[in-house]
Amino acid sequence: MPTQFVSTRSFSFSLCLISICMLMSSCGVGSPLANKAINKGGEGSIAEIRKTEADKSESGEIESGEIESEKAKAEKAKAEKAKAEKAKAEKAKAEKAKAEKAKAEKAKAEKAKAEKAEAEKAEAEKAEAEKAEAEKAEAEKAEAEKAEAEKAEAEKVEAGKVEAGKAKAEKAEVDKTEASKAEEGQKLVAEECTRIGNKLSSVTVNSCLDSQFSDSGARSVKGQAILIKEYPPLLEKRKPIGRVLLLGGTHGDEYSSVSVVFKWMQTLDKYHSGLFHWHVLPLLNPDGLLLSSPAVRLNAHGVDLNRNMPTPDWYKKTAIYWHETGKDPRRYPGTAPLSEPESSWLYEEIRTFKPDVIISVHAPYGLLDFDGPPDAPNKIGQLHLKLLGAYPGSLGNSAGNQHHIPVITVELPSAGAMPSQDEISSMWMDLVGWLRHNIPNPVTVDAYPEFEQISEALLASPRLTKQEVAEIEAMPITGNRQSSVVSVNSLDID
Ligand SMILES: [Zn+2]
Repeated sequence: MPTQFVSTRSFSFSLCLISICMLMSSCGVGSPLANKAINKGGEGSIAEIRKTEADKSESGEIESGEIESEKAKAEKAKAEKAKAEKAKAEKAKAEKAKAEKAKAEKAKAEKAKAEKAEAEKAEAEKAEAEKAEAEKAEAEKAEAEKAEAEKAEAEKVEAGKVEAGKAKAEKAEVDKTEASKAEEGQKLVAEECTRIGNKLSSVTVNSCLDSQFSDSGARSVKGQAILIKEYPPLLEKRKPIGRVLLLGGTHGDEYSSVSVVFKWMQTLDKYHSGLFHWHVLPLLNPDGLLLSSPAVRLNAHGVDLNRNMPTPDWYKKTAIYWHETGKDPRRYPGTAPLSEPESSWLYEEIRTFKPDVIISVHAPYGLLDFDGPPDAPNKIGQLHLKLLGAYPGSLGNSAGNQHHIPVITVELPSAGAMPSQDEISSMWMDLVGWLRHNIPNPVTVDAYPEFEQISEALLASPRLTKQEVAEIEAMPITGNRQSSVVSVNSLDID
């Protein structure tokens, strides 16, 4: 070990010094060095030294050689000391370098640590910033979506408002149209009442206007209104026992048929009790009565409306009938069943109102005809029952025989002259009496569910083939009624 080495060397060095001292002081025991050596080496060592020195003196070597040796030793020691000191210095230097290196490394580590911390901090700040950015973007997106949704909602509301406004405007337009239609209808009614009042001596314009006709919506060929007056059920009083359709003026030149219906309406205006539900049409053929002077039987198309109703095998049978009359223009049945607006509307009125009986007023043959179930009245006033049979295309044939709705045909005695007031009242009483006992008729009621089916079958009648037309043309012209019709030999019977 270096320390021990040093100590051993020091010890040897001490021994040399002792020897020198002894030589210089004649080996006095009292010299400090000797004392020191004695103290260190003890009794035995001193004796040893003395012996060695004595040996040396005896050999004669000690005097100069010894001094030389000691000097070298000292120098050696000195060199060793210097070496040691140098080593020590180097060691210290190395330690210092090591310490500095450690310090530098520590500093470096700390710096790295600091940099890492700085980087982490920066990273964290960056992450924080990105998070904040993302949150901001999210918030902006949500805001934008909200704004978009609000905008869409606002637009929807606006669109709804526009839609509502549009609907309102359309409704207003419809209402206006309805109102103007109603106004137009009332205007037509008023104009027609004026024409009726001017045409018929027994009906004044004011009495017509006072009747407060409704506009049925139906129009004649020439656009005149087909007037209708309803006497509705009076349910607070009683339930009506049946529905009655009363019509006049099917043939425009039968003035009295219109006037009498107006008279009976005056009675109903006063005495309608709700016993029956009435639809009254005083003038089915306004064009025939009002647009020609004198009035004509036919409508503005030249069609006999009482030959234009749907009946079985309409084309063939009306063609034969018309041929037999010598193609009398007054009997022209039209081109097809219900080809005319007036007859078409009448048939629709029957289909929708579903009358239990139809009273149709004509002139001038002074009789009573009846079609359909079950029991005809024997007389109405002075008019007596005379069954005329079924004409192709007539109302009695169509409604009475096909649809099983009783049709009372009142043939007044004169087309131009009115019956007396008593006769008009008498006819009315007889009619109401018959109605009381004969409607509703179960046969009629039971037939209504089949109305559409019967109607379709009637209207599906086949048109004539050329051969059939030729066959009809080859038939003799009788110039008279069909053979089934009895009693009356006149082409003008209804
Ligand atoms: Zn007639």
